[in-house]
Amino acid sequence: MTAVNIGTPLRLPAVVDVSDRPAGADLLDRFGRTARDLRISVTEKCSLRCTYCMPEEGLPAIARDALLTPAEIGRLAGIAHHRLGVREVRFTGGEPLMRADLAEILAATRAAAPGLAIALTTNGIGLDKRLPALLAAGLGRVNISLDTVDREHFARLTRRDRLPAVLDGIRAARAAGLDPVKVNAVLMRETLAGAADLLAWSIDAGVHLRFIEQMPLDADGVWSREALIDAEELLAVLGRRFVLEPIDREDPSAPAELWRVAGTGATVGVIASVTRSFCAECDRTRLTATGSVAPCLFGDDETPLAPLLRGGADDEALAVAWRTAMWGKQAGHGMDAAGFQRPERSMGAIGG
Ligand code: SAM
Ligand code: SF4
Repeated sequence: MTAVNIGTPLRLPAVVDVSDRPAGADLLDRFGRTARDLRISVTEKCSLRCTYCMPEEGLPAIARDALLTPAEIGRLAGIAHHRLGVREVRFTGGEPLMRADLAEILAATRAAAPGLAIALTTNGIGLDKRLPALLAAGLGRVNISLDTVDREHFARLTRRDRLPAVLDGIRAARAAGLDPVKVNAVLMRETLAGAADLLAWSIDAGVHLRFIEQMPLDADGVWSREALIDAEELLAVLGRRFVLEPIDREDPSAPAELWRVAGTGATVGVIASVTRSFCAECDRTRLTATGSVAPCLFGDDETPLAPLLRGGADDEALAVAWRTAMWGKQAGHGMDAAGFQRPERSMGAIGG
């Protein structure tokens, strides 16, 4: 088993040489990319234990006072938007709904950065009850994770028998008028058999289903490149029940390849995060739940902002530290390169 580490920082980045960084306010890196899309993890806790993400016992607990508060998150989101050119923030985790103060986090973000689009990635458990407060606090978009509509299979995959609660959350998001509601399913051998049922369910529920290739970010360290399922295999399975027509990409940098499901008005997508790396177009910057900048999911280096944040630094000092961290961002995940080493942190530990 791979050690799971959510300590902060896991590894401080090597000193980043910014002498050749062009003067500019935004989150540039050495490979010409500019981050506009911020992911903020708000907790390591989760109501599920998906096998491709979490260890069975859950992640080691983060001390309560080490977690960023709503006010701190709001301040960092404001800096990201006003000083660093970030346009969207997505709250994630762990499971963000495990934070009782999630609505306060959203409200603080909206107050600090009214122009910033606010989204949430969640497993949907409890979303039906929390949605009114979250919408009132500024939630604009939601992605919900669901790999199967087979209750037994769901319980095996997530180690929890909570499928009905997830479906309630998804239905509530649609009923509240959120559109689109995107449903993310991790593409694995075990999900293939139920993939057509999941698509049929999604069409019925009016949600946009996207399969995501499984990345080597499982806490148990059992991922293997050979076992990876690609779009071709998925399409062969879905093609037995549906007629799928490829849709030309309007935006070549969009992560999902899309197919129209003939006769339904629906689409289905595949995000080929492993086989078709979009590292060259990556526009993401991440903050961990304890306030460290993580430039890449596949790098173990983190730049802690909490000491500055809590030590009286002004907004520009925080912005400089964030820009410096992003200037040092690695080129890509390198999964196809010889000698690729998976990161130590699992998906739930950094925030997917
Ligand atoms: N708990 C929330 C959820 O499940 O949506 C948010 C956090 S979760 C880490 C964010 C996303 O990462 C989910 O859509 C999940 O399916 C995806 N994910 C987790 N582990 C993954 C892996 N090894 N490969 C690809 N996607 C993964
Ligand atoms: Fe929890 Fe989301 Fe990871 Fe599943 S994918 S264990 S719901 S954090």
